[in-house]
Amino acid sequence: MRWNNLSEGPAASATPALFGTDVVTRTFDTPEFRGITFHEVRARSIVNRVPGASRMPFEWTINPYRGCTHACVYCFARKTHSYLDLDTGIGFDTQIVVKVNAPDLLRRELASRRWQGDHIAMGTNVDCYQRAEGRYRLMPGIIGALRDYANPFSILTKGTLILRDLELLRQAAAVTDVGISVSVGFVDPTMWRTIEPGTPAPERRLDVVRQLTAVGIPCGVLMAPVIPYLTDSPAQLRETVRAIAAAGANSVTPLALHLRPGAREWFMRWLATHHPRLVRNYEVMYATGAYAPKWYQRRITGQVHELAAEYGMGPARPGAHRAPREPVPAEPEPVPGPTQLTIL
Ligand code: SF4
Repeated sequence: MRWNNLSEGPAASATPALFGTDVVTRTFDTPEFRGITFHEVRARSIVNRVPGASRMPFEWTINPYRGCTHACVYCFARKTHSYLDLDTGIGFDTQIVVKVNAPDLLRRELASRRWQGDHIAMGTNVDCYQRAEGRYRLMPGIIGALRDYANPFSILTKGTLILRDLELLRQAAAVTDVGISVSVGFVDPTMWRTIEPGTPAPERRLDVVRQLTAVGIPCGVLMAPVIPYLTDSPAQLRETVRAIAAAGANSVTPLALHLRPGAREWFMRWLATHHPRLVRNYEVMYATGAYAPKWYQRRITGQVHELAAEYGMGPARPGAHRAPREPVPAEPEPVPGPTQLTIL
């Protein structure tokens, strides 16, 4: 069965055919997880190489989840759900693949003689501190393994749940290079509620910056996305950068909205509902591809860097906290066939 893209009705409860039958699919009738389905799989590998053509400042990633209950309308990772034969609209928000063996697998891979101890980035495809992490608790095992092998790593998140692991992060930072970035594209509460409905409020995310900084873990902010016509006025940019600086961020890296296939259709549907007068502007602005025009990107970057300097922050130093210049388009990962999946 192939799930239809951009479905509007309740998510289907059947297991996608691509998973075969050897996967545990769970739904929880608690307020936190109502309407969400978890597909628990045993992955074959957990440290993934970033595609060679990528412009990312790191080569390796860990993604313990696929899909994200944070449900950001613009999420560039939506397309990756189609690799699993899953819906890229509401399905991406509610059908979450959980690699339940991620911590054990990571220990095995870090112990391998082939592993060279390179930097590993997390949160670059979907958020590893999304709500599912509250239940599955994969990150403590992952951070613990990275700490024990003194393996450098970075995390990009919108999730306040990262504060649960503060002590582990502190221990890891004592033995290796740890970079944390929090994603806050704007601080407008109305905008937040409609376009990032499953995320903690921007102010709560900035509290994460405050608390990490307070325990001596430097934290940068990826100011993403800056949304054309909606969050990019000079006053809005100033308000956002001022709040980021006030939280104690050591850097801010702006990134204009980009609309890859999968995200584009979902975002344009949202735009037509909430801001119909802007649809034509977006069709023009994104006529030639996924990215906003270079002049727009330069303008936003220039404005944000000027504001950052005014508030005493710098742009991210290359490699300092490894905030992505652009999110990583996840490659289709090899999906375990029925013989590799184990019912838990
Ligand atoms: S938090 Fe990140 S991964 Fe999750 S939906 Fe939002 S943009 Fe996508």
